[in-house]
Amino acid sequence: MLLFDDFKSWQQHCKDTQEPLFEPVLNYEIQQKNRTAETIWDGMQRAYTVMKEAVLTGLSEDMTSRSGMVNNSGKKVYNAPITVLSPEFQKLIARALAAKEVNSCMGRIVAAPTAGASGILPSTLVTIQELHNLPDRKILEGLLVAAGIALIIERNASLAGAVGGCQAETGSAAAMAAGAIVYCLGGSTEQVFSAVAITIQCMLGLVCDPVAGLVEVPCIVRNASAAAIAYSSSQMALAGVHAVIPVDECVQAMGEIGESMETRYKETALGGLAATPTGQQIAKKVLIQDIEILPDETVS
Ligand code: SF4
Repeated sequence: MLLFDDFKSWQQHCKDTQEPLFEPVLNYEIQQKNRTAETIWDGMQRAYTVMKEAVLTGLSEDMTSRSGMVNNSGKKVYNAPITVLSPEFQKLIARALAAKEVNSCMGRIVAAPTAGASGILPSTLVTIQELHNLPDRKILEGLLVAAGIALIIERNASLAGAVGGCQAETGSAAAMAAGAIVYCLGGSTEQVFSAVAITIQCMLGLVCDPVAGLVEVPCIVRNASAAAIAYSSSQMALAGVHAVIPVDECVQAMGEIGESMETRYKETALGGLAATPTGQQIAKKVLIQDIEILPDETVS
């Protein structure tokens, strides 16, 4: 069973039933998993706790990876002596880097919607909760709205870098975050979907080109920029900025661009940043490291 084919049907359903946006997603989860509402809420709370922990871990523990490409960027931004951002914005960026670094260093994260984009929802939701003193329950409702957004994008485009490029991963995560933020701050359904549309418009065309095939560079910094775009889009939507192109058409555009993207830009590490001289050098170094740590019996 599908939830909704598109955003238009979701909007119409909520208009007809007067249900809040999260309600049909909750009911879908109950049906799909054959569980009670209480169990679903408990699962959402556990997921959000893991997200909060990822942010804290990335900002308090050593975040360096074997490749040398990950090196405590979350902590660096959090403690930066020279700032160009407001304190809240600085925290948002630091948290996005930190949570994603936890994933790159093999720590525990929530892959929402994917591990590659796992810094976006934690950083945006933790920061909006702090800014507006929101209860966890409201954030969990926002997470359900985010899940509904992801299901529709997955149906009509993709959530995977290997299928649709990075627009499908960090772009979708940013769209989920933007919709959740507007929902949590009391925006109308039109404003929630406008935030999704504006975010997609800002992320369209982004290729997937991970250096050495590791989900580190540019993935970590892209989580931070996607979090920033989620924030700017939600601000625009809440202020009444009109997306002009309806959200369903934005998703269609994402699907069309993803389909026409060359294979070298779809997680193959054959194009873009992965194909640069420095990217190639790092790939060689990582390959040598991998051979060195192979047990003797597998080398012979
Ligand atoms: S560059 Fe590719 S692997 Fe990295 S976050 Fe984007 S989609 Fe994921």
